[in-house]
Amino acid sequence: MNTYLRIIRYAIPYWKYILLTFICTIFYAIMNGTSVYLTIPLLDTLFQETNKTTKVESQELKTKPSVFPEWVEKTKENISKNFNDYILQGQKKDVLLKICIVIVLAFFLKNLFGYLQGNLMAYVEFAAMKDLRDQAYMHLHKLPMSYFKKERVGNLISRFTNDIGVIQSSISATFSNLIKEPLTILVFLFIAISISWQLTLFAFIILPFSMVIIAWIGFKMRRQSSKLQSKQADITSVLQETISGVKIVKAFGMEDYENKKFMKETKSFFKLVIKIVLVRNASSPLTEFLSVIVGSFIIYYGGLLVLEDNTISASQFLGFLFAIFQMMPPIKELSSINNRIQEASAAADRIFEILDTQPSIKDSTNAIELKNFNDSIEFKNVSFKYEDSEDWILKDISFKAQKGEIIAFVGPSGGGKSTLVDLIPRFYDPNIGSILIDGEDIRNFTLKSLRSKMGIVTQETFLFNTTIRENIAYGLTDCSEEKIIEAAKTANAHNFIIELPLGYDTIIGERGVKLSGGQRQRLAIARALLKNPEIMIFDEATSALDNESEILVQEAIERLMKNRTTFVIAHRLSTIRNATKIIVIDKGQIVQAGKHEELISQEGKLYKKLYEMQFRDINENFDGK
Ligand code: ADP
Repeated sequence: MNTYLRIIRYAIPYWKYILLTFICTIFYAIMNGTSVYLTIPLLDTLFQETNKTTKVESQELKTKPSVFPEWVEKTKENISKNFNDYILQGQKKDVLLKICIVIVLAFFLKNLFGYLQGNLMAYVEFAAMKDLRDQAYMHLHKLPMSYFKKERVGNLISRFTNDIGVIQSSISATFSNLIKEPLTILVFLFIAISISWQLTLFAFIILPFSMVIIAWIGFKMRRQSSKLQSKQADITSVLQETISGVKIVKAFGMEDYENKKFMKETKSFFKLVIKIVLVRNASSPLTEFLSVIVGSFIIYYGGLLVLEDNTISASQFLGFLFAIFQMMPPIKELSSINNRIQEASAAADRIFEILDTQPSIKDSTNAIELKNFNDSIEFKNVSFKYEDSEDWILKDISFKAQKGEIIAFVGPSGGGKSTLVDLIPRFYDPNIGSILIDGEDIRNFTLKSLRSKMGIVTQETFLFNTTIRENIAYGLTDCSEEKIIEAAKTANAHNFIIELPLGYDTIIGERGVKLSGGQRQRLAIARALLKNPEIMIFDEATSALDNESEILVQEAIERLMKNRTTFVIAHRLSTIRNATKIIVIDKGQIVQAGKHEELISQEGKLYKKLYEMQFRDINENFDGK
């Protein structure tokens, strides 16, 4: 229930609309009641033999004690007096016509208010869900990298699509109904009591019997719908993984395996869905059947009141029955509202789980701006391990980079190089030790100012599904065309861009033009050049590129490094030669550090081995070409 109240809170900013909805709902319920109540004079007019009014008729019945306060009785009397005077006077034919006109009017107003109420409520619900979705999305950006490593992408996407969908559809059904149905019930209850409180009391003594069964169904639904949502997320996850890893699946001939995996998920989803359907579908017929049983008891008891007690007239009894039966759909609706609230709550729990995840990496309370980078970046006894992992990935790393230097990291894969450079923009924080910029711990700077000083080019260049221009100028709001072109030229990208059908306006990415690995890298470099960061972080990967591309990318990289402090995970010898300092990392530790010439002269050490290995590869490649 708490979760549901939390959903409702998103509607509070739209309280004006809710208020209007409420007013419309009141009129809707009154008109609904009126339209049913009108059946009594209608029946009287049709079946009474004389030309007398219902008032006279009711005087012939035994007087009933009133259950309402005096003012209610007075108002009732006033209304019925006016009704009698204006509508029920005259010839039967005229009265019939007048009653028909009033009925049409009542139905027209009822539907008009129903329509207004529906629209207003929909506005509130969709607006509230938009806010929730936006808030969750914004929060997603605050979460650390570790969160995204832990959560499957499909699972997260499913929360934004399926789960919000469930909340939305159930809210649209419940929120308005939660006001509308009880009000409708109240109005009909009022009518029923005015006709005969004994009969109403009798009805309400036997009604709870059906309520217990309805509540039990709701309880069943609650337990299963939360399972359903997480199963749905599992399917999305498998699908998402297959789509992004389609190449690997094909290359390894794993289609059958993946098919089986997927079918296992869909099968258990199917089983669960069927279970839920069985319960949900049982809900309506059961409730209806119970209502009929209850109804029959009432008809029997009420019939006796008419035939033997003579406390109510036949037309009033029919009016009473209409009122009671009009109460059934809202009661039924209310019972399904409970199910829907449970479904929505289960879905909302999964959204709120995102919102409730506190970002572990955020600005400290007294964070300051990193205005200028003047002197050095230093790692001081840094040790690091990933959350949920026992192994230390980095162990006691210490080194200092002066402004303007190129620091290259080399070493066997899995040694911890990528992890190390991820600590500089605070994608992760060290567990022990610290990283200092100009002597100040980077945790004391605001994340925004820290990251604004850095540019990052990684192996997997990510491009957004938009124009080349926007991809290059990513994050820069007003950037002149000349600057974009200049960056593209420096990155050796301009020539291939202008050959594309729409030049800088060509849409790239999933639904646009496909680019080669080298072209993508050059765009990423242009993007970094345009941002013009003082500190550049590079996961230099040219191994996947063809020769020509590689030369073009290499040139671009060298231009990008100029006049900056660069950290580079080096795969290429040329970068290593240019580096001010080479740091050799193996199993999370610095095993060697120095200039190329120094390191190469250290016999039997890792660097020389790596160097020789690469050199051999290059010669082999060269010979082979
Ligand atoms: P390198 O860049 O030198 O190849 P990495 O920094 O990528 O090395 O990886 C170092 C080690 O950390 C590897 O053993 C890898 O399995 C592990 N690792 C990398 N990312 C994560 C992660 N998100 N969670 C747990 N372990 C990780």
